[in-house]
Amino acid sequence: MIPAKFDYVRANSVEQAIQLLQESDGEGKLIAGGHSLLPLMKFRLTEPGTLIDISRISKLKGVRKAEDRIVVGAMTTHREAATNLIIKEYIPVLAEAARQVGDIQIRNRGTVGGNIAHADPAADLPAAAIVLDAQLTIQGEDGEETMDLDSFIIGPLITMMPENGIVTNVTFAIPPSHTKSTYLKYFHPASGYPVVGVAVVAGTDNDKKIDYIKIGITGAGDIVFRAETVEQALMGQIPSEAVIDSAAGLAAENADMGSDLFASEEYREQLCKIYTARALKSILL
Ligand SMILES: Cc1cc2nc3c(=O)[nH]c(=O)nc-3n(C[C@H](O)[C@H](O)[C@H](O)COP(=O)(O)OP(=O)(O)OC[C@H]3O[C@@H](n4cnc5c(N)ncnc54)[C@H](O)[C@@H]3O)c2cc1C
Repeated sequence: MIPAKFDYVRANSVEQAIQLLQESDGEGKLIAGGHSLLPLMKFRLTEPGTLIDISRISKLKGVRKAEDRIVVGAMTTHREAATNLIIKEYIPVLAEAARQVGDIQIRNRGTVGGNIAHADPAADLPAAAIVLDAQLTIQGEDGEETMDLDSFIIGPLITMMPENGIVTNVTFAIPPSHTKSTYLKYFHPASGYPVVGVAVVAGTDNDKKIDYIKIGITGAGDIVFRAETVEQALMGQIPSEAVIDSAAGLAAENADMGSDLFASEEYREQLCKIYTARALKSILL
């Protein structure tokens, strides 16, 4: 439980962080809240030569509305995301997911940028992020680029992060005003991570037919995914217990289920169906 030796340096700007990454020659790693990186270092699953602390960079902080999107600085903590008034008003599903991350110490230190950049298959925020069409703003050696969440996370702990890049913010699309949203999570009893977590944004038109629906599922597979088969089955339908139960039965169809000592593939499949149905009913019935 003791990490290998490392150097520590604090970056005061995004440019300096990139320069420090370049100088470290592949041996450096950014540290934000440290709540995912340090456990990996203690298990010696990663042994960075230098930790580059980005927690004091002011450009990485703050939440603002920019036309039809909400811009959340990468260093925004889970606690801030759970309580920020702009997030609660326009993209409440992110606040709801952030509120359920770990415990209060984790939420006080862990960050939105770190949670998404780390690409843990059981992280909470990617489920909310995927239903809000999240995009990452990444500053790198060659300037700034924008990447969709589903192009960015490509496997468990694997992303398309460019070498020596830094996520400066994550932007989220504001869903149509007639929609409602929720995030429901089956907590792992030991770690508090989601065994399965389901985020839903959905709404109905004047004829009470579903005209907007996005469902994101985390924890179940290798990677966060949209339950598109359920979305397609429900689009244009008038929601009822029976209609939702039938569609939610397809919730595990868009990913291969994971399996571990706590939950088998079959168990995760059931959780996907049950939590998708519960989440949909809570906002549509
Ligand atoms: C006991 C415990 C329980 C937890 N429970 C949960 C839970 O229930 N749900 C959940 O989702 N998470 C949980 N976590 C993880 C927690 O939310 C982490 O804080 C979060 O996943 C990572 O954010 P961080 O700021 O701590 O990142 P760090 O640990 O600092 O970094 C993680 C990785 O992301 C990279 N990184 C960080 N910021 C950036 C950036 N701006 N640009 C590029 N790369 C970056 C780092 O280099 C590193 O590789 C738990 C952690 C612990 C220790």
